[in-house]
This record gives sequence, C-alpha cells and structure tokens, in this order.
Amino acid sequence: MTVLADDPTSAAVLAAMPCYPIPLHGRSPGLDALRVARAGQGVAVGHDGVMLILRRPWLALDVRVAPPIAAYLPYGSVGEPKADLRCGFIPRVYLMSVLDHFRAALPNEAAAFIVWNEKTGEFAVNFPVIEDATPSRLVYRIPTLPPDWHMVCDIHSHGRGSAYFSATDDADDAHATKIALVFGRLDHPDRPAMASRLCDSGMVLPLPRSPFSGGADAA
Ligand SMILES: [Zn+2]
Repeated sequence: MTVLADDPTSAAVLAAMPCYPIPLHGRSPGLDALRVARAGQGVAVGHDGVMLILRRPWLALDVRVAPPIAAYLPYGSVGEPKADLRCGFIPRVYLMSVLDHFRAALPNEAAAFIVWNEKTGEFAVNFPVIEDATPSRLVYRIPTLPPDWHMVCDIHSHGRGSAYFSATDDADDAHATKIALVFGRLDHPDRPAMASRLCDSGMVLPLPRSPFSGGADAA
C-alpha cells in the first residue's frame, strides 16, 4: 500500500490544506505545531466533526465546518470551537475615532481600517483613499500595508441607512481574513446601528463578542 505522503498528488493536496486525523487522546505533533503557528491553516478530522484551524498573527480560529461523520472513526474529538484575538481587544478609542470620521462624512458612506503591528503590538486607524462616495455607494482603495502590519477590522458606514452586509459587501469580503463591521443610522442621536462578522476563506461567521475593549456591545 502506498504511504499517503509518498503519493505526489496527495502530498500536493495536503500541502495546500493539511488534514490531521485527531488521535484518541486529542493531540499530535503536527496538530500541536499548527495550533501554535504564527500563520497557517489545516483541517482536523475527529469522530465528532471536522474543524478548520486557522492561525494568523492576530487571530486563532477553530471553527467546525462539518457535522459529525456518521461512521465509526478511531479518532478523538475536535474539541471546542474558538475565535481568539491574539492581538488582544482593540482599544475603544479607535472605534470612537472611526465613528467621528463616519459622522463627518455624512450623508456619504465612508470606510476605515483598524490595523495592528505584530512586532510592536500597536493598533492604528487607516482611512483609505476614497475614489467615489455617495449616500449609497463607496469606492475606495484597499491599503497596501507595510511589513508587520495586519488588517484586523474592515469597517464601513452606510451613512443614514441601516447596518447590514450587502451583496457588494459579500463580494468584497470573500477572499480576506478579517473582522468586518458596518455602521448605519449615523445621524441617530444615540448609538448607531451595527452589523458584524468574521470573514475567512469565503466563510462568514458570527462574532462571539465585540472586538473592542470595554462594554459588551461594539458601539
Ligand atoms: Zn456595505
């Protein structure tokens, strides 16, 4: 029988997206290395489901991508899902500055990015170059980040409109790993409306909690 890793086709597929059977006791050197990797991805197969394991300098994500397999597998458990911010919670002052910027842009839509430096641990707000902005449409350039900086949050406003992810937003978010936030009703006297999600590999996941420090809500 051919050993899987000696089969060039299987080896190429596994190199693109490694697949780890989970031992009964839950750990293996390969899985342990992926879990602590600075950046990497793979799928772990257990008797109780399939977990996508994604690591970015700022994010540690374990998310179930398939239900339990209805067959006997001599495998262990995939464990609990998680979505941990390795960069820590984002100081709320950055959110306040983004919302001030969005209100100043009314009635037009606007955008901002919260970026994080993995060497220094500092956050910063990046306001992109806007090519066209109206109350219902926004065209802007995604910033090219210097080395060590990572986009954590991609935030845009719907001006006075409601907060939701449009079909255009879905297309924009399909190929990035980031937290996406939309704010609406920015003319409202109290807090604006917000929609949030975590994007990865074409998946969109609910955010388990606000990425900002302090308070249970994001705004
Ligand atoms: Zn939108």
